[in-house]
Amino acid sequence: MNMEIKKNSKIFHPFLIAFFPIIAVYSVNIGLIQLEQFIFPTLIIVGGAFLFFLCLKYVLKNAKKAALIVTLAFIIFFSFGHVYNMLNQVSIGDIDLGSNRILLPIFVISFGIGSFLIVRTKRTLDNATSIVNTISVVFITVIIAMVGIEAFGCDECLIQQTYSLGIFSNQIMDSTLYFEEHSFSVSESDSLPNVYYIILDGYPRNDVLKKHLDFDNSEFIDFLKQREFYVAENSYSNYSLSSTSIPATMNMNYINFLADELGEDSRSYDPLLGKDFGLYADNQVIKNFKSMGYKVAKIGSVPMYLHEMPLADLSLCYKSIHLMDNRLFDTVARTSMIGYFIERWSEDMQRQIILCAFEELPKISSYYEEPVFAWSHIMIPHFPLIFGADGEPVTPGESLLVMNNPHLFEGTDSSWNIKQQFLQQLQFANKKSIKLIDKILENEKQSIIIIQSDHGSAFDVNLHDPTDDDVHQRLSNINAIYFPDEKPREILMNDQTNVNTFRIVFNSYFGSDYDILEDKIYWNLSFKKPFWFKDVTSVLLN
Ligand SMILES: [Zn+2]
Repeated sequence: MNMEIKKNSKIFHPFLIAFFPIIAVYSVNIGLIQLEQFIFPTLIIVGGAFLFFLCLKYVLKNAKKAALIVTLAFIIFFSFGHVYNMLNQVSIGDIDLGSNRILLPIFVISFGIGSFLIVRTKRTLDNATSIVNTISVVFITVIIAMVGIEAFGCDECLIQQTYSLGIFSNQIMDSTLYFEEHSFSVSESDSLPNVYYIILDGYPRNDVLKKHLDFDNSEFIDFLKQREFYVAENSYSNYSLSSTSIPATMNMNYINFLADELGEDSRSYDPLLGKDFGLYADNQVIKNFKSMGYKVAKIGSVPMYLHEMPLADLSLCYKSIHLMDNRLFDTVARTSMIGYFIERWSEDMQRQIILCAFEELPKISSYYEEPVFAWSHIMIPHFPLIFGADGEPVTPGESLLVMNNPHLFEGTDSSWNIKQQFLQQLQFANKKSIKLIDKILENEKQSIIIIQSDHGSAFDVNLHDPTDDDVHQRLSNINAIYFPDEKPREILMNDQTNVNTFRIVFNSYFGSDYDILEDKIYWNLSFKKPFWFKDVTSVLLN
């Protein structure tokens, strides 16, 4: 047998090309995506390439042609989103090149012409196959080398990789060392209040709204005050990201020890957001309520897995389990040719989760005899901007306000205005919150209600080198607390940070004697380094 023929007959490029987008997405998300998430997208996408290849081979009766068409199809399908993003700001005359209307036909026609030429050619395609094989090997080698350098280039990253794989599961940190156990003096006969903790993600403080968005939110703030909420006018979150801020609030403590334990360069979010043991799910506030016989309900979780809390008795309004739970698959799919539909579909799901949370919250206490701690983390007014002021569904990038009210914008720039849309979504959050609060107070005047955000906004903010103004905008948060009795309200102050919120709640109503911690505020907006903290306390408090 001729060696040359044997060599040329090997076809592997479609499978390497199909694997390429998976590892390319991983390479820019190391630490955010766990290695085990590779399995599912690889099975689906590379398996899909294999099936597609088998079918075409059967139809064309030619393996090389079939393979080249599969490779062409996968390149076109998965490069679509990248080309789209690259051309997003480019336009020729009035035609915006980065739009589905223009790009989809171009991509489909290119695939049609390419496949036609491959099918019709009389050549044996040995050379073409070798060349494409070689190119696919080079691509994969380069990208794997890049991942290797990124992931294993430093000791901390190596630790993080094994950590997230759970190979050394005994290394999973025992963070209880850092958090105080506490006793509470509540007797069986005490009728304990239901406690509602509602996080409106990314809701800015009123002075920030005035300064940066030229919007006066006094109507909502006055409503809260009128319902006897204490609204802290100089409130700050302790960290600038949800993933650090919320675990700190829910554990009533700073989480900087994670930087000491794992190193500032660690990229793993597991200690914060890990499914069972992360500080978000496995937190001291819930443990305290449980120890006092409370039922715990988690309502509304857009982020993955965060509804799966071993400590919660009930979890409502979360993303149902589906393919896109795999973050790697989700990201790969969003940059593909069907990305547009996936985005619209996931926005719709997010709308439903948010509406569901407002719907369910006032009903929770009726499900139990016991007192209830209802914790709701609602992704509003946080991006994506998917609601109009009255809850109308909005597609990000397409201004519903303009579509519905063209007369308001005659002669002005009617393009998508991100600040305008943000304010629309914020006003919808206000409307829903007002209804919710009134419903809770109508039936359970003795409840404790906390409306708080985990951080403020970040319009025109320099993440890596923030100005004092940026720090102020991002870390100023809305913070409104309703205590049913007048006496405990006296402890609430204008200057406060989220870390003390539940210390105050437990001291005021549950007979604990937590120390009130000194306020510290940290900037951490490096998504790749969740434990890199810069102390900005002196910028904000003096
Ligand atoms: Zn947040």
